[in-house]
Amino acid sequence: MSNSSLELLKREVSDKRAEGKYRETIEKGYILLEQAKRSGDSKAMLAAYLNIAASYYFIGDIEEAFRCIESYREVCEDQGDESDHLNLYHVLFLLYEYTKDYPRAKETLRKTIRTGQQLQKHKLISVAYGNMSHVYLMEQRFAEALEAAGKALDYAAQSGALKPIRLMRIKMNVIKAQIGLENFEESGKALDELLNDPMLDDFMPEKSQCYSIQGAWYAEQKRYKEAFAAYTSAKDLAESYKDMQLLQSIEKERCRLCELMEDIQLGYVVQKQYIQLLNEIHHSELALAALKLDIKHNIVEYERKANTDYLTGLYNRSYIEITTNKWLKQAAATHDKILCLAFDIDDFKSINDNNGHLFGDEAIKLVSQACSKVFREEDLVGRYGGDEFVILIQGGSLEIGEKKAMQLQQALAAIEFEGEAATKPLTISIGISDNLNGKVKSFKELFHMADTCLYKAKQNGKNQIVLA
Ligand code: GH3
Ligand code: MG
Repeated sequence: MSNSSLELLKREVSDKRAEGKYRETIEKGYILLEQAKRSGDSKAMLAAYLNIAASYYFIGDIEEAFRCIESYREVCEDQGDESDHLNLYHVLFLLYEYTKDYPRAKETLRKTIRTGQQLQKHKLISVAYGNMSHVYLMEQRFAEALEAAGKALDYAAQSGALKPIRLMRIKMNVIKAQIGLENFEESGKALDELLNDPMLDDFMPEKSQCYSIQGAWYAEQKRYKEAFAAYTSAKDLAESYKDMQLLQSIEKERCRLCELMEDIQLGYVVQKQYIQLLNEIHHSELALAALKLDIKHNIVEYERKANTDYLTGLYNRSYIEITTNKWLKQAAATHDKILCLAFDIDDFKSINDNNGHLFGDEAIKLVSQACSKVFREEDLVGRYGGDEFVILIQGGSLEIGEKKAMQLQQALAAIEFEGEAATKPLTISIGISDNLNGKVKSFKELFHMADTCLYKAKQNGKNQIVLA
């Protein structure tokens, strides 16, 4: 796939995500992943993982989102730059916040802040401190929340480029923290200022939240009637753009306030509205669960496609590389042996030339089938590209590798071709390396050693095995 069509696909995936079409983002994301892996484009791989993970997050499949982000992290640690790492922290923060894992959420924010300081990106630091204050609020640690929000404002002032909406969100956190600390005078003033800001009319979700905060401000001072009115304004706004989560918390508060006011009649009406809302939430959750199930059903197929070579069904280069790197990392600690066999069909060009390209394709498929007979399910058998294959085996000495290679030679010699091609049996040249008792840490290194041996086998007259 050419660079420009990969770019096009990349844009298509992120557009789908921006449109909120999560199912299509996931489907197209896996296609992008497959193409990116095939052409070894790590940036496109990262983009695919990020978009897929974010889509899973939005449909509430957090387990899958974490799995994707883990794959993202693997590629990122190997080949990512700073902005790839920042993207990783951002999605991780969202996931930890969702699962209410606040210690880890804060840990990732600290990483963002550290990176932001290294890169002198004040806007980024400001946003991270804003999120930090949000987490502290969730933990009801108001003093720390106030401090973090203060830092967010400081960095916003230094950067000078923070969007007004972000600034507003930070100010809302300051107010919430002050209410938690029972500093009603200051928070009351700040709240009035926010609510009177004409800009707020452009941001309905924030406006609704401001009324909600006002409700809390009154309620904390036992001014229940005014609190109820503020929450009702918040509810009316939240209904217009269907923020179910916010609506639920508002309705809960309104019910509680009716009890505190001992207003049975109003309480009855509010309870009924609350139940209706819960029903609606239940229905949309059901629809989401159905979507999740549908995607789950297809995901095995998407993933299989992304990890395999289209012609043979063997693993592709990128899957082999990523998995081998994992194996090598483990083996460095346990000193387990990892074997690498690289082999290439001899004189394949003449097979193509004499019998046609389609026949060549069939020959490649037959070779892959022979591999499946000789190697075990737990071995990694892949097509490296063209007529070159690679096999990784956990455990076992070079001698075992040599034995397996001989078995493969025999299996290939037994393949019977028809017509002109029948005159010459299929032969291969093989190079074998191992991870030198854990010293070899990357697939590239291990493969290079095997490939060098393969080159020697070709030089020595082909159809032979050379050990490192
Ligand atoms: P050597 O013994 O030195 O390996 O010689 P060779 O003729 O096999 O040369 P080499 O391995 O360098 O070239 C392999 C050829 O395989 C080149 C390319 O035209 C062909 N090829 C690559 N991918 C495919 C494929 O998917 N299908 C077919 N039919 N041919 C392919
Ligand atoms: Mg060849």
